[in-house]
Amino acid sequence: MADTPAECNIKVLCRFRPLNQSEIIRGDLFLPKFQGDDTVIVGGKPYAFDRVFPTNTTQEQVYNTCAKQIVKDVLSGYNGTIFAYGQTSSGKTHTMEGKLHDPHQMGIIPRIAEDIFNHIFAMDENLEFHIKVSYFEIYMDKIRDLLDVTKTNLSVHEDKNRVPFVKGCTERFVSSPDEVMDVIDEGKSNRHVAVTNMNEHSSRSHSIFLINIKQEHVETEQKLCGKLYLVDLAGSEKVSKTGAAGSVLDEAKNINKSLSALGNVISALAEGTKTHVPYRDSKMTRILQDSLGGNCRTTMFICCSPSSYNEGETKSTLMFGQRAK
Ligand code: ADP
Ligand code: MG
Repeated sequence: MADTPAECNIKVLCRFRPLNQSEIIRGDLFLPKFQGDDTVIVGGKPYAFDRVFPTNTTQEQVYNTCAKQIVKDVLSGYNGTIFAYGQTSSGKTHTMEGKLHDPHQMGIIPRIAEDIFNHIFAMDENLEFHIKVSYFEIYMDKIRDLLDVTKTNLSVHEDKNRVPFVKGCTERFVSSPDEVMDVIDEGKSNRHVAVTNMNEHSSRSHSIFLINIKQEHVETEQKLCGKLYLVDLAGSEKVSKTGAAGSVLDEAKNINKSLSALGNVISALAEGTKTHVPYRDSKMTRILQDSLGGNCRTTMFICCSPSSYNEGETKSTLMFGQRAK
């Protein structure tokens, strides 16, 4: 993988989870054939990415191969975004969060939290760091603060430099990895309280964790800012045309719209020649505008099920990832 981000600002990585117990019991076939470290064959068709992670890849390997560098870049003043895209139950949350308090099974976000503070402790003592985090979700095009349940419909504004931000969203200063974990736990428990069926809800909303890092040299007063968005997207599965009605159909349309807006932005950025990038087509792409493409670090995880039962969804997930190449 090229490590000079200027050459390749959008990385697309594909990860397959193992077959689960019920798929094995049902007798589903294991579909993907892995070729080299960047290609997977599904249904006879090869799909190439910056990297393909087969089912036995550990959380640590995933982190070291693709997120570690982004932490260094954000500490050098770049912005970045890491997404997980895929159908429900394909491993998005496993990849982004994993088991938060388990050193082996923890995912990208807790590893980033640890890494940031390790870097900071090793850096110049004359640098003063201010790190703050926010945690919110977008559901039915409404932004809900996961750190303050009273804020259920926040809006996107632009600051004086025309940088978009979520106005009024809670920001928490953190000074250790444990404090970051506490904020995540708090956000997750608020989310549980607010909804009746957490699994269904999390498959229909985008959850966004923002880490903002400001550093200032105590003598020269030179400042450097970087931020990183970590996005666990809503499930990309298509709702069956016959089964869905009413609110379920509205949710599905909404998700579809926001995921295709994201796909359009990413593919315009990947082509690199387009003068118009349609950031304004969804709230999410507006919020992420200054952390996608250009001088930013963007990584998209394409999460897939290996089961023959999910072949159709897996193929459309792989196609979505290909658009960003
Ligand atoms: P999603 O967030 O896409 O709906 P999850 O991350 O919750 O999916 O994954 C669904 C289930 O599969 C969870 O029980 C999770 O622990 C398991 N799982 C996902 N990816 C892996 C993996 N790479 N290795 C082992 N188990 C996984
Ligand atoms: Mg999930």
